[in-house]
Amino acid sequence: MLPGMPWHVHDPARPHPPVVTPGPYFSEMPPSDAIVLFDGKYLSHWQSAKHGQGAGLAAGAPTWKVADGYMEVVPGQGDIGTKEKFGDVQLHVEWASPNPPTGDSQGRGNSGVFLMGLYEIQVLDAWNNPTYADGQAGAVYGQYPPLANPARRPGEWNTYDIIFKAPRLDGDKVIKPAYVTVIFNGVLVQDNQEIMGPTKHRLLTRYVAGPAEDELVLQNHGNPVRFRNIWVRRLNLTRP
Ligand code: MG
Repeated sequence: MLPGMPWHVHDPARPHPPVVTPGPYFSEMPPSDAIVLFDGKYLSHWQSAKHGQGAGLAAGAPTWKVADGYMEVVPGQGDIGTKEKFGDVQLHVEWASPNPPTGDSQGRGNSGVFLMGLYEIQVLDAWNNPTYADGQAGAVYGQYPPLANPARRPGEWNTYDIIFKAPRLDGDKVIKPAYVTVIFNGVLVQDNQEIMGPTKHRLLTRYVAGPAEDELVLQNHGNPVRFRNIWVRRLNLTRP
């Protein structure tokens, strides 16, 4: 059971959020202080991820496909992570599910954005694709379903705007947990949500000692999901 909640991890009985039709797509271009992580042409900011499925693959240039302004997951080629490490960030990511869709539930258009390589905001084809609520697109995977389902059709571009506050840890001791806000196609789906700990599949989690900053990872779940226009701003949340 999830702590303080009447639900198991991936509980099929957990209610699903309402479907919302988003407004027209537009691509928010990077502001002047952003680090452009993917401009549609080069994977120079990326390498095989140190976490997840990238771990154990040969280090070096990732072998995901790049074409026509997007990158695409290549099954079997591992997760990719940023060379640069980040803690508190504002992150913009655009993604599109494979079209035509294949598979169902978690096998359909599955990918993910792992903050610090540990905390997954789920990417999934959420168009007429029933799955457990805490595994839908925009979920803090295995912990919190999105507040709404504003996903676009397979092949259409979706936007995530993520504000992430990294956890403050002293060894295994949690000084302050991580928090995340996610706006999905212009719709709030996570509201400064406290994260329970690193993402696990069908397991409860807890924080473990780790660095204050780490790679941003895109998940390879074996589905050819596309990404484009990825940029990040480092946040200094302390006002002078
Ligand atoms: Mg995923």
